[in-house]
Amino acid sequence: MDKIERFANIGGKKVGVILIFDSYKERQFKQDFEEFKAYQQKSNLEGGKDLKFYKQLKAKGLRDFKPIPYALFREYTANFFSKSLFNALKFNPQFIVSDELNIQIKLIKVKNRSYYFEFMDQQCDPENACFDGAGIWFLQTIVAPFFYFQHIDYKIIERYFLHELTHFTDQMKKYVMFDAKYASKIKTFSKKKSAYCLNYLYNSIFNLREEGLPDFVARKDSPRIDINMVGVHLYNQNLEKLTRLTKKADAEVFYEKQIGWENLTPSSEYVNGRVMCTTIALLIAKTEKIPYQLVAGNKTYTGYDIKELDNILSSNKLIYVVNLDKRVIYAAIKLIGPKPGYRFIKMYQDACTALGISERNRVMTLRRLAVLAKQASQIGINERKRRLNKGGFVG
Ligand SMILES: [Zn+2]
Repeated sequence: MDKIERFANIGGKKVGVILIFDSYKERQFKQDFEEFKAYQQKSNLEGGKDLKFYKQLKAKGLRDFKPIPYALFREYTANFFSKSLFNALKFNPQFIVSDELNIQIKLIKVKNRSYYFEFMDQQCDPENACFDGAGIWFLQTIVAPFFYFQHIDYKIIERYFLHELTHFTDQMKKYVMFDAKYASKIKTFSKKKSAYCLNYLYNSIFNLREEGLPDFVARKDSPRIDINMVGVHLYNQNLEKLTRLTKKADAEVFYEKQIGWENLTPSSEYVNGRVMCTTIALLIAKTEKIPYQLVAGNKTYTGYDIKELDNILSSNKLIYVVNLDKRVIYAAIKLIGPKPGYRFIKMYQDACTALGISERNRVMTLRRLAVLAKQASQIGINERKRRLNKGGFVG
């Protein structure tokens, strides 16, 4: 096996970072490098989440991205990535769930940056956290910034990995088992009903917790956490649209692009799930009487029980939660951890009630989910009837 390994002792436990290059040879790297260059030189970069440094390059008086040798790519990746991970784990030892933990990353070529990491749940056990990782992510996050500017933003690496490792510990603690079991049942059910969108609807609902908590954990050291109300409303509009799609292919594409993992904007499951976690944290702040600030526009509100909260959510597109106490954040993570799927939504809607957040400002409620599910299955029933009748059968 073509791999590079780095090991460290963290709190008496042996932690390894293993990077596997079997599927990411010089040829794949060179293709990614060309894609990276083409992407960086586009005047209008879409997405907005990726690192952009063509301007910086020009500011240094350089005109082009000098080729990075493959061997150097491997070396930088191994050195800086493991350094960042070891450091992150030192401050977050809860992710080390066994005496010997190997974090294994298989580098792969992913086209068009459609995703960066995939948690390989089938291969994991308490000693092995396995992921596929897009080579281009390592190139643009670690290798290129260091090669061209001698600078690496370790915070970004850490944020990605706290997210991915939360999936790992979720699985090891069996927190998401319930969702996985339930998801397969829904799949069978939605096939029977010809309501494919039902499957995606539930998938999205479960992802609010499965992706939302990792996203919340990844931002636990940020000075501020945003609540994007435009994103909240758009997420709901998209779910509504989803339940009206009768064709499997349409539902699939719409789900992946507008709702699921290809959506990296504030209307995504990740961000909406994080907003839910943040709301639960605000209730903890209220209960424990630990003040924080809300910043909306040019106004700042301080307190542990901000009475205007619902009004603020109604009249602003973007609200920042600032100076949320670490104790509150850790308590929220601990509380949310064992709550998958429905129980997470229930916990969230109870928090909304206690904080005076009105229906229209909520990300999701159990009642709203029931309405959406009913709508989705009714459309499926109608569609099946139409299909049978059209073919001259009884429906
Ligand atoms: Zn994730």
